[in-house]
Amino acid sequence: MSRKIYLDNAATTKVRKEVIDEMRNYFDEMYGNPSSAIYELGRRSKEAIENARTTVAKFINADEKELYFTAGGTESDNWAIKGVAFANKEKGNHIITTKIEHHAVLHTCEYLEKFGFETTYLDVDKYGMINLEQLKNSIRPETILISVMYANNEIGTIQPIEQIGEIAKEHGIIFHTDAVQALGGVRIDVKKQHIDLMSMSAHKVGGPKGIGAMYIRKGVKIDNFIHGGGQERGKRAGTEGVQNIVGFGKAVELAGKNFDEHVEKLTAVRNKLIEEIKANIPDVVLNGHPTMRLPNNVNFSYKYVEGESILLLLDMEGISASSGSACTSGSLDPSHVLLATGLDHGTAHGSIRFTISEETTEEDIDFVIETMKNIIVKLRAISPLNK
Ligand SMILES: *Cc1c(COP(=O)(O)O)cnc(C)c1O
Repeated sequence: MSRKIYLDNAATTKVRKEVIDEMRNYFDEMYGNPSSAIYELGRRSKEAIENARTTVAKFINADEKELYFTAGGTESDNWAIKGVAFANKEKGNHIITTKIEHHAVLHTCEYLEKFGFETTYLDVDKYGMINLEQLKNSIRPETILISVMYANNEIGTIQPIEQIGEIAKEHGIIFHTDAVQALGGVRIDVKKQHIDLMSMSAHKVGGPKGIGAMYIRKGVKIDNFIHGGGQERGKRAGTEGVQNIVGFGKAVELAGKNFDEHVEKLTAVRNKLIEEIKANIPDVVLNGHPTMRLPNNVNFSYKYVEGESILLLLDMEGISASSGSACTSGSLDPSHVLLATGLDHGTAHGSIRFTISEETTEEDIDFVIETMKNIIVKLRAISPLNK
């Protein structure tokens, strides 16, 4: 059994070979500190950072002066929410977010509640979509921030970002979106979509781990999160991870090449996987939206079985996937996202997420379907839940 099929690209992606090649130069040859621009070695590093900044900014239709590198999606989410809360506390103490955000957003909002901030958590429908009327009705005079993720990491649902941006703009409220999963899979235009703050991460788009970015629209009132030196134009201190930034830039450059073709190809393979699961395995529920979903996301609940057991058996066949409960650090509670869509605990527990990549082939899909068919039959035969 040497066959390996990696279908957990929402957890992280393989670093592209071109990215590693590009990064390598910044370990051994161009190791200068970008702040030491008085000499050539430092200047080279500085230039490399600015090139990456331009690439990432262009990809989301931002000005490069509006882009700041961070240590990843989690830091960007923390910065956006705490930074806006503390900088605007004279104006108000109310934040609107959703029940299906990543923990980097949810736990940050919970933390702020200790400081007198209040959070409204918007509901989602069975497809994981927020309701724009509920959003409008939740707005108060003291609302300072709306934070709604662009696309969900578990079920892949893509929110109506442009409409949310319009509502926020009409009310003069800052709009943050966690676009970690959307980057590279969806066309993002921060200007057209009225986005004020946006979190990004490299390792979800073929770049290295530990590097991300935040888009901050010019004029948005936000406190610094990391204090120290004057790096990132005084907004995010700490010697830049030059090699990581270069890798992020390269990954985004590659994502921008043949973007439409890439999305089309992923969508076709994703649809095949969805259709074949529906056709071959009885008693399944597709989680997430049927069409407004990430091109690489397939998430089903398999009734009467445990997701954890499926994962173990998949792993024995060399297939990596993710379940609706384990990702929260060994916790046995079912995913907050699946519960928010209205699934009962039992059904939520039997959920498996497959997230494909450009490398996923039709043969991989055939093998996964055969394997899943066998696993589900086997587990259901011994399941006490299966009456
Ligand atoms: C992965 C992820 C994050 C966290 O990003 P890191 O770079 O791993 O810290 C945040 N939000 C979403 C939606 C994610 O998928």
